[in-house]
Amino acid sequence: MSNLSDKTLTELVGLIKSKQIKSEELTDEFIANSQKGKKLNAYITESFDIAKNKAKQFDVKPNFDCLLPGVPLAVKDLFCTNGVKTTAGSKMLENFIPNYESTVTTNLWNEGAFLLGKLNCDEYAMGSSNETSFYGNVINPLEDKVVPGGSSGGSAAAVCANLTPATIGTDTGGSIRQPASFTGTVGLKPTYGLCSRWGIVAFASSLDQAGPMTKTVSDCALMLEAMCGFDPKDSTSIDKKKENYSKNLNKNIKGLKIGIPKEYRVDGMPNEIETLWEEGKKILKNGGAEIIDISLPHTEYALPTYYIVAPAEASSNLARYDGVRYGFRSSKGNNLVEMYENTRSEGFGDEVKRRILIGTYVLSSGYYDAYYLKAQKVRQLIKKDFDDSFKKVDAILTPSAPSSAFKIGEKKDDPISMYLNDVFTVPVNLAGLPAMSIPAGLDKNKLPLGLQLIGKPLAEQTLLNIAFSMEEKINFKLNINKWWEK
Ligand code: GLN
Repeated sequence: MSNLSDKTLTELVGLIKSKQIKSEELTDEFIANSQKGKKLNAYITESFDIAKNKAKQFDVKPNFDCLLPGVPLAVKDLFCTNGVKTTAGSKMLENFIPNYESTVTTNLWNEGAFLLGKLNCDEYAMGSSNETSFYGNVINPLEDKVVPGGSSGGSAAAVCANLTPATIGTDTGGSIRQPASFTGTVGLKPTYGLCSRWGIVAFASSLDQAGPMTKTVSDCALMLEAMCGFDPKDSTSIDKKKENYSKNLNKNIKGLKIGIPKEYRVDGMPNEIETLWEEGKKILKNGGAEIIDISLPHTEYALPTYYIVAPAEASSNLARYDGVRYGFRSSKGNNLVEMYENTRSEGFGDEVKRRILIGTYVLSSGYYDAYYLKAQKVRQLIKKDFDDSFKKVDAILTPSAPSSAFKIGEKKDDPISMYLNDVFTVPVNLAGLPAMSIPAGLDKNKLPLGLQLIGKPLAEQTLLNIAFSMEEKINFKLNINKWWEK
């Protein structure tokens, strides 16, 4: 069958289950696309041989009684994969080969999928443009001079360019939703605790959450269903029964109340985004939902709060990279302390060092109360804003990001303007809520813009249903000219 990789994951699963295609045929096509897509720099590690073998094994002894039978999947290089290098986009882990597998990827493999490769990302998932990766920046498949977003930039680019049928990313402050918005793809950050964090390289443990990145909303439901679930190995995992998100997907949004927070109208936001937001409201209204103006008064404090809490946790999580237990070790230095210092100086990139410095500072005695403790209190207020609003509404609609994909290099040397890109995504992580980004239109440069839906805790099904109904009306189509193959 030709042009398999243009199809959605849901269609491909259907074709495999009805025996119209074989896993090997499918895998070969995605390997070929990935090889032709080298200019995008979406991969850090290719595991095409493993994928090819797994596909052959599947075809010899197929099992169709699972969600992702015979499907090759490339994943963000933050998920530890047994026997396959896992770098987190850092020099520090350049040669790190885990001897264990993350729970989330294990869940995907248990549903019949197998690994195609490891996708590029910002170093330790710290970034919004994939420019902090030690392995070079990723290029947006929609235009060769712009970033794909970050930190799951390789994942977003790979889905957008048909290098993988679907993928998974992680979202600590927007790293699934913002790159999805920049590449015209769908991305969902689940409720904190729905997907296990076990075996994912930690950035900020109270915020980190894995989630699907896909071409369509149905694909997103399918991936979420496959990857989520209670895990006793993660103490923050939620012990609840798995839901059938894909089976229960429907477009009925009649009577749902959708909140529009006035604080998400920020200065300097392009008119196109405002227009898109208005169109989103109209679509929901026409579908039978009720639009309600709401207020999330502490929104303006979310970004500064995030940039205290996240670096604080990162500085603690990254203390383990000492040149003794993991990965890179500097050969310089005359004693143990010098070895530690040189290892960390040479192994971490500038953005990671900046976060460690900020994190250490806000946690140090004398500053702890003024910064870290205060940020924790403000975090509670941000969460309370959402709790109060969710007494009145079922979901919230906002833009996903304050701009479309920006130029490579444009914000690289200006961390504040880079951080400002996360203004609409970080409040959700601070509050532990589920949220997703769906492609909603194009700006004047023909770059995609996304709309974000935010839900109550564990209301992923509601979000998926709203997104499913909007997707049909928006009828967004990516216009890809595959410049990288020319
Ligand atoms: N851009 C944000 C940051 O750099 C979010 C990153 C993420 O979600 N992993 O912290």
